[in-house]
Amino acid sequence: MILKSKTAVVTGSTSGIGLAIARALAAEGANVLINGFGKPEDIEKERAAIESEYGVKCIHSPADMTKPDEIAAMIALAESTFGSVDVLMNNAGIQFVSPIEEFPIEKWDQIIAINLSSAFHCMRAAIPGMKKRGWGRIISTASAHSLVASPFKSAYVAAKHGIAGLTKTAALELATHGVTVNCISPGYVWTPLVENQIPDTMKARGLTRDQVINDVLLDSQPTKQFVTVDEVAAIVVFLCGDAAKQITGANLSVDGGWTAE
Ligand code: NAD
Repeated sequence: MILKSKTAVVTGSTSGIGLAIARALAAEGANVLINGFGKPEDIEKERAAIESEYGVKCIHSPADMTKPDEIAAMIALAESTFGSVDVLMNNAGIQFVSPIEEFPIEKWDQIIAINLSSAFHCMRAAIPGMKKRGWGRIISTASAHSLVASPFKSAYVAAKHGIAGLTKTAALELATHGVTVNCISPGYVWTPLVENQIPDTMKARGLTRDQVINDVLLDSQPTKQFVTVDEVAAIVVFLCGDAAKQITGANLSVDGGWTAE
């Protein structure tokens, strides 16, 4: 167990990739702060399951990743409850699919806030403690869309390219402090985020559900398979280990060959 007596904060971890990462970090012995929205009874079930399955402490923060003051309070809550934030996983993210000229302004602002600015606010709050202790791991869930674009995803692509740049900057600033900063760029992972964008993509491109899955989503992925949440979580665990201490400022693709094309 590589994270015994350490603390991990995972944003957007009541579902999908974030939940798998929170579980994987708990399996390595970390106390975990999970964050995100959902039915209170579902969140409580996940929180309690993490504690009982892995023998760690787990708390939930409902902090809204569009609100800088709630983000700062979330990091402070993890520090006051567990004593530190050693692993910061910026994962919360949403998607919206529309041509630029019809893209609702409030959706653009929301995606930039959740998918990009929240990572800055989390880092800003967590870095002082990491520097003081001389150890930290900051990892963000970017996307294949941090490297390449798709039409109708302007805000998402802009935010994810931003995450890749923020990762490099933070890595340089923290290089001599024992803190590594990396991002992971999955291709299509089968989660509610992907499932929920199918109707809008059907509308935007005039396609059926099967056509969106096979001709749009899996068309990008040479392996013709979705990435799994556990495959993403395994990389996070690797990045937390000692063997990964010289990996910093990297953008690691897990995309079935998508960005090799
Ligand atoms: P998901 O919809 O299953 O989970 C998103 C999580 O973010 C949920 O816990 C949700 O409650 C939380 N969230 C949403 N808005 C929030 C807010 N304002 N404040 C706090 N939490 C909020 O999605 P997912 O597919 O697991 O995506 C997670 C991350 O992975 C995102 O950053 C996404 O862009 C990225 N990603 C996903 C895929 C994919 O194919 N699913 C591919 C590449 C990257």
